Amino acid sequence: MAVWSVLCDFDGTVSTSDATDTLLEAFGKPGWQEIEAEWLAGRIGSRVCMQQQIACLDASKEELDEAIDAIDVDGAFAAFVDAIIAHGWELSIVSDGLDYAIRRILQRHRLPALPFYANHLVQTGARTWKLDSPYAADTTCYSASGLCKCAFAHRARAAGNKVLMIGDGRSDFCVAGNVDFVFAKNNLITYCVDKCLPHIPVFGFDDAIRMIPELAEFEPTLI
Ligand SMILES: [Mg+2]
Ligand SMILES: [Zn+2]
Repeated sequence: MAVWSVLCDFDGTVSTSDATDTLLEAFGKPGWQEIEAEWLAGRIGSRVCMQQQIACLDASKEELDEAIDAIDVDGAFAAFVDAIIAHGWELSIVSDGLDYAIRRILQRHRLPALPFYANHLVQTGARTWKLDSPYAADTTCYSASGLCKCAFAHRARAAGNKVLMIGDGRSDFCVAGNVDFVFAKNNLITYCVDKCLPHIPVFGFDDAIRMIPELAEFEPTLI
């Protein structure tokens, strides 16, 4: 039986909205949209984009907490995690988002203390913040992201596991080509179709749970 390492995106995949976007829309000083446009045009990577945008935040910790506490999660995520663990497989959250938001959202929804890797949000003053990226790896990942999801995929495969990526968007594009199978939401579906990557489209973790028996029987095909 295949042994899977599941790498799971957070924003837009576990959470139903993107925490960074939510915070910028609520507390971003003028200028953060122009930085976003530079990123969308491909002139800067997501790491530089997010570092500059987080420097535009003007919010107290209490204000951030209140906004983060309004972010919801996929109601079937906890059951999916339980099913993965019941198979003896492992699941990590790999996110190009904010560690502070992920920790708070997981705790508020009483989700298990999952291993997660993300950018590190640091408070530098009463209303100022900066972003550190302890998991960046410009040399192995073309996406110039704050967190190199590809490095996590390579590590799991080196340990002999099959790697499943679950994600929804641009921060998952690069890694989607470096795993055995993808559960794709939203923009990631189109990307997987265009690049002929082995995947199934999912609307959420209800669909993902139904696919678990097929993972157990998985035979490598294209990769
Ligand atoms: Mg996402
Ligand atoms: Zn990559």
